[in-house]
Amino acid sequence: MPNKLSDRIRNLPMSQTLSMAERARELREQGEDIISLSLGEPDFNTPDYIKLAAIEAINQNYNFYTPVSGYLELREAICEKFKRDNGLHYTPDQIVVSTGAKQSIANAVLVLLNPGDEVILPVPYWVSYEAIVKLSRADIVKVETNIENGYKITPEQLEAALTPKTRLFFLNSPNNPSGSVYSEKELRALAEVLEKFPDVIILSDEIYEHLNYSDTPVFSIAAIDSMYDRTITVNGVAKAFAMTGWRIGYIGAPQWIAKACTKMQGQITSGANCIAQRATITALREPVSRIQYMIDRYKQRRKLIIELLNEIKGFKTKEPQGAFYVFPDISYYFGKTLNGHTINNATDFSMYLLETAKVATITGDAFGAPNNIRISYAASVDDIRRGIKRIAEAVS
Ligand code: GLU
Repeated sequence: MPNKLSDRIRNLPMSQTLSMAERARELREQGEDIISLSLGEPDFNTPDYIKLAAIEAINQNYNFYTPVSGYLELREAICEKFKRDNGLHYTPDQIVVSTGAKQSIANAVLVLLNPGDEVILPVPYWVSYEAIVKLSRADIVKVETNIENGYKITPEQLEAALTPKTRLFFLNSPNNPSGSVYSEKELRALAEVLEKFPDVIILSDEIYEHLNYSDTPVFSIAAIDSMYDRTITVNGVAKAFAMTGWRIGYIGAPQWIAKACTKMQGQITSGANCIAQRATITALREPVSRIQYMIDRYKQRRKLIIELLNEIKGFKTKEPQGAFYVFPDISYYFGKTLNGHTINNATDFSMYLLETAKVATITGDAFGAPNNIRISYAASVDDIRRGIKRIAEAVS
């Protein structure tokens, strides 16, 4: 039968983060000694107190469909969390729990955008924002940031990118892949510009909020009065609670958006996994201090990886403030030949590291930044040491 796939799927790129992880897994299965510094996935186990909550939920027969937007008790716990950590006052009818923050974002994009609408995406951006927006057939307006301005969009840049067609503005702080954290002052300056464009919705992805190693406190743009009614605050438990596979993300949003996201989800997946939802109630209700040990470890690894990378010629690295990635500019190597491999771009470089150093990283092309690669330090100290040593050898 001829290939009859839709244009939609044929035009959709593969997730480069997931496909690199898959490639590294395959090579390992073939007996290759691959060090994976590619995926943004904690190497910790989910904490025991969260696992116990899940076991209890199984024993208490939480096996039925949940409300599409999530158990009321979970939505209440999310409201408490938003109030405690972000100073945001939501009611449970403003919360939608989904199968990972990725689905939360897809819901929001699909309920808000029509073909021809414009979406502002500061570069570098997480790989799936672009792909999900493409599914909606809206137009993407990329705004370049760079190492000098800390990979953060300025109010002037935002103002220049906004048009009467702009419908959505993506914010992601702490940022994947750059690790940048926007201060309250910077967000207030962006909000001042957005006030002139009342039809624009802000999608604020705060999934890395607890992974902040800087003195700049993480701030939610929805905490600014004029932004509250037009912001979708996205979060989830994957990163900070080492719960990637449990797949729980959520939004706090104006009621009309939450309602639309619930309708969308009701036709596509229904409520998220019941056991994972019960475990998330515990994860969110327990004090954040219980996960501090992981944050402390990331902090040490971040210091280590920056020190090691700074010793390698041609790696221009901005110290990341949050998340668990470093995002060096490696364009120094473009046009050079390393061990017989010509490096023309970041994808060549990342593939070269995989083949020669046996270290998996992600090309900056996936994040709209063709001069960089992303290296994850959500990996053991041993893997970081060995991985960066191999990279240093491969480029020397
Ligand atoms: N968000 C993580 C990353 O950027 C996990 C993979 C994905 O969903 O893209 O590596």
